[in-house]
Amino acid sequence: MPLDNILTTSSTKTLKDCPYKFFLAYCLGIRQDREAEYFRWGHNWHTAMEMLGQGLGVDAAVDAIRANYAVRPDYIDPEAWEAEYWSVACCVIAYAEHYKDDGVQVDATEREFCVPIINPETGRASTKWKLAGKIDKAVTIGGRQLLGEHKTAANDLDPGSDYWRNLRLDSQPSNYIAASRSMGLDLVGVWYDVLRKPAIKPKQIAMKDFASFLTIKKYCGQDFDVDLHRDGNKNIAGVTINGDSAVLETLKTGVTIRETPAMYGARVMQEVSGNPSRYFARYELARTEADLKAAAYELWNVMQSINSMSQSGQWYRNERECLRMGRCEYCNICFNNLDPQHDQLDGYKTVENVHQELALTATTN
Ligand code: SF4
Repeated sequence: MPLDNILTTSSTKTLKDCPYKFFLAYCLGIRQDREAEYFRWGHNWHTAMEMLGQGLGVDAAVDAIRANYAVRPDYIDPEAWEAEYWSVACCVIAYAEHYKDDGVQVDATEREFCVPIINPETGRASTKWKLAGKIDKAVTIGGRQLLGEHKTAANDLDPGSDYWRNLRLDSQPSNYIAASRSMGLDLVGVWYDVLRKPAIKPKQIAMKDFASFLTIKKYCGQDFDVDLHRDGNKNIAGVTINGDSAVLETLKTGVTIRETPAMYGARVMQEVSGNPSRYFARYELARTEADLKAAAYELWNVMQSINSMSQSGQWYRNERECLRMGRCEYCNICFNNLDPQHDQLDGYKTVENVHQELALTATTN
């Protein structure tokens, strides 16, 4: 395994969630066959943010997202797949427009690091483990260089909300700031750039709105090419919108359609652009030397826990995590008491590279 003996933010957070989950994911490399929507959405958002940070422009960012949605996994419904693309792309367009004159200077994007993990008591490096990660951005705001972190969230982003208070406890920026010193960066805090992911889904259009749409050929402020097809009785038999066939819905009082993915995208754009304070938030948090020291102790403790459980081969399960925030991806293994090393694990695969967020292939010793 090329990234053996590497810890990352994802892996240490997984250990904190449930050591057995860490064992499954990072020692055995077991992953679900099916990629979760939130993971794909977040990955595409990060791709776009990286490209915008590099000054490549919003068109190039949207093209890159389109390319990522070129091949649909057969377990995902075609309409849902297209809607997902439009949802990400329209949020990127709305973001780029909202922040087009923000004056933020981007000094670096997507810088990977791999640094020794230091014992904060002795100052000595672990002989086994290293910390690897990727800095989203280094930005200069008001003359100070900050760690730029892109996030997507489902939460309320109001300045006084728990979301920001909770981020204050996050040790990742502290470890990244400490690691960035080896790259010659002098980051003094973290600058969070967060998108609240819109929760709206494609919907059936109200009949009166459908009638209006057929007349004005506009939906949520955007123009569409609309072709109406009627049968021999002059009833609506089909509607083509921007070349896509819309799904007809027959109601007691007439006919309407479901939004096509492009129409849904128009509604996402209108929703996000029309409520920027709900969907976009940026927030700066200072990081002191005491924060960096606390994070270093935390990392060292996590690493020691891994060593201890690895030695005994006993990884305890945190049963309180299984159903928190939905369902843990390993419930089918744990709830059925399967032996992950000997039983057949339907719905799972084994990956070679357990740190798929990193391109690093360096060995660690
Ligand atoms: S199902 Fe529960 S015990 Fe099993 S890995 Fe997930 S959180 Fe841990």
